[in-house]
Amino acid sequence: MTLVVAVPDGYGAERRYALDVVLSEWLGLDWRLVHHAGPGVRITLADDTSDPAGCVTLPDGLFATAEDDWLTPTALPPADVPWVPVGTTFEGPLRADDRLPVLHGAPAADPPSRLVTADDGVHLHVDVLGGVFFLITRYEELLDAPRDRYDRFPAAASVAERAGFHGLPLADAYVELLWAALQRAWPRLTRTPSSYQVLITHDVDDPLATLGRTPALTARQLAADLVHRRDPGLAARRARAVLTVRRGDHGPDVNNTFDFLMDVSERHGLRSAFYFLSHNEVRAGAPPCHVLGHPWVRDLVGHVHRRGHEVGLHAGFGTYRDPERTRSELTALRAIADEQGVRQEVWGGRQHYLQWGGPVTWRNWEAAGLDYDCTLGWADRIGFRTGTCREYPVFDLEERKPLRLRERPFQVMDVTLAGYLGLTPDAAMDAVLAVARECRRFQGTLGVLWHNDEVLRTGREKRWYADLVAAVTAAG
Ligand SMILES: [Zn+2]
Repeated sequence: MTLVVAVPDGYGAERRYALDVVLSEWLGLDWRLVHHAGPGVRITLADDTSDPAGCVTLPDGLFATAEDDWLTPTALPPADVPWVPVGTTFEGPLRADDRLPVLHGAPAADPPSRLVTADDGVHLHVDVLGGVFFLITRYEELLDAPRDRYDRFPAAASVAERAGFHGLPLADAYVELLWAALQRAWPRLTRTPSSYQVLITHDVDDPLATLGRTPALTARQLAADLVHRRDPGLAARRARAVLTVRRGDHGPDVNNTFDFLMDVSERHGLRSAFYFLSHNEVRAGAPPCHVLGHPWVRDLVGHVHRRGHEVGLHAGFGTYRDPERTRSELTALRAIADEQGVRQEVWGGRQHYLQWGGPVTWRNWEAAGLDYDCTLGWADRIGFRTGTCREYPVFDLEERKPLRLRERPFQVMDVTLAGYLGLTPDAAMDAVLAVARECRRFQGTLGVLWHNDEVLRTGREKRWYADLVAAVTAAG
């Protein structure tokens, strides 16, 4: 069964990409593109013998933008994004009284009273394809957007935050809406099944707390354990680790939580990914410490692989617009991985500090030979920066073409919870479980980043983390 998608002229590469992700990648449907005078998008079924023949229509919103206004604020959703009820009962995660924000395709001043109507065909009153494209390409981040001190696009500047949907995978909700309409028109259509998954990743910025530290710096860390963290046990373990390091034993190092992390993942049948940073700035102003030059860290790369977990790249600070450093850091990691006997079909990772510079970073990753990126979560919020809990191939908005590189789901970072959001442990647990529920609702993937060092030093932090992984993987 092949869908025939009739679209107006213009934005050919962009329309084809959006259809490819939504229909081929996510729903697993066959389709072909034809052009018509419009208005809007009209989907029919090839060789449809029913009478009357079914059809699904959608408004053209983002792709009706004048070429001169493309990638300008004129193409953004309205300042006051309307939330409109679905209005029709379907099978699937959306209920009739659920409201969804309409990014494109409906006038904000006069929004429709419901998102789906059926008479003489099934009609969607929201630009599903433009909305998915807008979200998964991070369109708004290419405009003259505000940046934080690490040159990152803050969640606070996003349409998701302004319209209040950063906790909702809106692209996935749009796809469910389209699927429901297609199934209403042609009940015999079948889609690719998907299921809820958990993807746990660990950025290895600082594998050993003793690495690159002078005695004075270690003394300052000990003082911080006692005064700020009020944790004499941690200070004692740190002091003991400093002594054992002299004998070449890194086992007791307070940052050496790797076996604990792998134990927790294995307990729940998960394969963690460890993304290794090449150089770390352990002291402001001092030359970066060559983390991957340390023999214990090189062994760790092999150890992770031998335990069945994934090794990946944590591209260094400031490399997010630098194709040469991206490539050379990957080459260095791959050389160590080879030396350690690491064999992997797929290589990916994440930018340090979640720095990301529009399609340039993606383009550099693809050029370096990487298969996937997992950078696009918010630093200052938890939630759905790309609007989806599904993996997808990315699109280069500047060169107007799809790339082979894929983006993996990532919604929760450890330091966001306690640091940026200042949540108590209980509130943090509730916040992550709310994101997990959305991923489960849309049968997608919850992506979690937990550093080996940041929020995992004390027994209480370790228990909290183990409880979190148990909770998000529990049968729901
Ligand atoms: Zn990092």
